[in-house]
Amino acid sequence: MNDIILLKQGEIVLKGLNRSRFEGRLVSNIKHRLERFGKFKIYALQSAIYVEPKDDACDMDGAFEACLDIFGVVSVTRAAACEKDKDAIAALAKTYLADAMTQAKSFKVESKRSDKRFPMTSIQLSQYVGGLLSEAFPDTAVDVHDPELTVTVEIRDLAAYVHGTPVPGAGGMPVGANGKVVSLLSGGIDSPVSTYMIAKRGVETVPVHFFSFPYTSMQAKEKVLTLAKELTRYCGRMDVKIVPFTHIQEEIRDKCPEDLFTLLMRRFMMRIAHRLAVQHGCKAIVTGENLGQVASQTMEAMAVTGAVTDLPILRPVIGMDKEEIITVARKIGTFETSILPYEDCCTVFTPKHPRTKPRLHELEEAEQALDVEGLIQEALDNVEEVRVRR
Ligand code: ATP
Ligand code: MG
Repeated sequence: MNDIILLKQGEIVLKGLNRSRFEGRLVSNIKHRLERFGKFKIYALQSAIYVEPKDDACDMDGAFEACLDIFGVVSVTRAAACEKDKDAIAALAKTYLADAMTQAKSFKVESKRSDKRFPMTSIQLSQYVGGLLSEAFPDTAVDVHDPELTVTVEIRDLAAYVHGTPVPGAGGMPVGANGKVVSLLSGGIDSPVSTYMIAKRGVETVPVHFFSFPYTSMQAKEKVLTLAKELTRYCGRMDVKIVPFTHIQEEIRDKCPEDLFTLLMRRFMMRIAHRLAVQHGCKAIVTGENLGQVASQTMEAMAVTGAVTDLPILRPVIGMDKEEIITVARKIGTFETSILPYEDCCTVFTPKHPRTKPRLHELEEAEQALDVEGLIQEALDNVEEVRVRR
C-alpha cells in the first residue's frame, strides 16, 4: 500500500517572503531527522510536506514518531495515496481506515480540494465516500458535529490522499530558520529546558559547558553530553563545546573576595560564551537563569554578568516557576538525567554569603587581580568539541 506521512507546517505559512526559506529549512531538517529510518522522498507542496518511503525497508513507525518532535510542524498523519477517482478513494478509505472505523463510535468525512479541477465539490465527495463507508461499517454512526473519527480526503496536485485524525506536532518554527545561538548548558534542570524553548522558536543551538575537572567529575561531563543527546530529538545534531574552567575558578578562589566568587565566575562564562558565539556565527547567548532562584539570579547580578557582552542574553525560563520548568523537563525527557547527583562548577567554591546586589565597579576592581585575557585565551585554546547525534 502507498503509505506516506503528511506533515502540516505551522507558523511559517504566514511568513510572506520568508516562506520559501523557512520551508526549505524545514524540509532539510526533516531529511536529517529521518535519515536513520530509511530512504524517503521528502518535498513540500501546498503548505504540506510529504514524506514518501522509497522502498519497503523504511521504518514508517519510527519515522512517524520522529516527525512528532520536529519544530515547525503542527500536525502529523499517516496517509495513503490513490488516483483522483471517487471510487478509488472510497475503496481505499474502507481498507486503509478499517481499524479506525471499527473502533470509532461515530465518524464523518471531510474533503479538501486543492485541485479545483476535480469534478465533484468537497461536499459531494464527502457525502459519496461517507455513504459507502457507512454501508461498510454499519455500527459506526455518522455524526457531522462531534465525530470520534474524522476521515479526511485531500485532492491534491499529484494524487488523492486519505487519512484519519492527525496527531498534533511539536509546533514552533524550523530549527535554523531564526539563526543560531550559544546555549549555556549545565547539568541542571533549567538549562536543557531553556535550550529546548529557544530551539522551538526556530533557533539552532551550540551548547557550551564549563567543566571544572577534577572538582567536577567525568560523570558530570557525561551527564551534560547525555542531556545534549536527549535534546537532539528537538534540536537536531549539535556540537557541544566543553570549556576547561578549572584554572579560572582556582585563580578567582585564590585572588578575589569570596562574596564575589560566583559573579566573577559567571562573568568569565559570559565572556567565553561571547567569543564562541562570534567564532560560530551565533547572535545571542541563552541561559537557564530564572529570576530570584539563587543569589546569582537577581536583577543586579544579571546586570553585572551581562555587562561583559553586548550580545543579547536570552533567558527563556526567566519567569517560570520551578514546578513549571520541571513539567517541561519531564515532557521533553531531560528531567531524569538532570536530577542525577553530579555537582556543577557553580557549586564548587560557592561563597558562604554571596552578594545579591553587586555593583559593577566592585567586580571590575576584583578582576584587576586576574589576567582576564590570558585566562580566557587559555580556556578557548583548550575547548573540546563533541558532536552529539541521536
Ligand atoms: P540549571 O538547572 O540550568 O543548572 P541553576 O538553577 O542550577 O540552572 P545556575 O547554576 O546558577 O542555575 O546557572 C544558571 C545558568 O548558567 C544555567 O541555567 C546555565 O545556563 C548556566 N550555567 C551554569 N553552570 C554552567 C556550566 N557549568 N556550564 C555551562 N553553563 C552553565
Ligand atoms: Mg546549574
